[in-house]
Amino acid sequence: MSEILITGGAGFIGSHLTDRLLQRGDHITVLDNFNTFYPPSAKRANVAPHEGNQNFHLIQGDIRSLNSLNTVFADRKFDVVVHLAAMAGVRPSLDDPPLYMDVNVLGTQRLLDEISKHGQRPLLVFASSSSVYGERPHERFKETDPTDRPLSPYAASKIGAEAACYACHRTTGLNVISLRFFTVYGPRQRPDLAIHKFCDLINQDRPIEMYGDGHSKRDYTYITDIISGVEKATQLTNPGYEVINLGRSEPVELAKVIECLEHSLGKKANIQQKPPQPGDVPNTFADIEKATKMLGYKPTTSIESGIDEFVKWYKASKESQAAHISR
Ligand code: NAD
Repeated sequence: MSEILITGGAGFIGSHLTDRLLQRGDHITVLDNFNTFYPPSAKRANVAPHEGNQNFHLIQGDIRSLNSLNTVFADRKFDVVVHLAAMAGVRPSLDDPPLYMDVNVLGTQRLLDEISKHGQRPLLVFASSSSVYGERPHERFKETDPTDRPLSPYAASKIGAEAACYACHRTTGLNVISLRFFTVYGPRQRPDLAIHKFCDLINQDRPIEMYGDGHSKRDYTYITDIISGVEKATQLTNPGYEVINLGRSEPVELAKVIECLEHSLGKKANIQQKPPQPGDVPNTFADIEKATKMLGYKPTTSIESGIDEFVKWYKASKESQAAHISR
């Protein structure tokens, strides 16, 4: 049994990881500030099943707050810290760049400092993003590719946080794995992301705004595949510092995603085409050779079955909300 801290553990990816690691028998502490980027009630619902579990400990607090971090590290000694807490999302970052830098860069630095200050030596697994690659040709993105041309404040903040992790590794010897996630989707996905947003609009027979001509491609990666990669990363011993892509390595056109949603919902989308948005990259494509070698990572979920699972969850959550309101 490992002692594991998950920052941002009430969110989309964090709550799935919490589920998986509790099943594995680990002791999990979640630090999350339940911010209002999307309804905190969704995050409460994500962690509610673990209330009362003796192996689960929830701390509501902020990674930028020394008080919160002190509460976390004074009480427990961690084998692994999975650092997921962040302001996520490319487009929202254009509206408030300082907030993204504050949480994602300064917050990460504060976390690193507190780990050292408390004399702890956990393995740090950091949630980075494919957005650090910026605009790339239509070929696989390799971990060794340059990351000095971010297209959004969000991407810049993830590059900054990766750099802070590397500097900490060099100065203190902390073991760090930076995982670059490629467009993660599945049940509990953030409502600001395309699959969730489109699903909601198609379901309500409202028009969807498709930015670009539908040919832009993303390496959509299903949540359980991502979680398997993160879980394997938590088991590495003395890795030093490594950056590892976690994607599906099978980019899918936006138009195809809409088709899959139409099929799973049994409804036709009313598409309104708009010009491409600033900050968006035209394509993402993960090279996963390193993940395969280092983590035995092997994503298995196709876009068709992944979207079908997402839609099943979406419908079930709508039904339970409706039942709750009518009670
Ligand atoms: P999410 O918003 O659902 O989860 C982030 C969690 O962090 C939320 O529960 C939020 O309340 C918490 N949080 C935010 N600021 C905090 C702070 N200052 N202190 C404490 N907690 C805070 O997002 P997600 O999609 O689950 O993403 C998790 C991580 O993975 C993020 O770091 C994100 O940048 C990264 N990532 C996600 C994707 C994706 O496709 N979802 C892709 C690449 C990278």
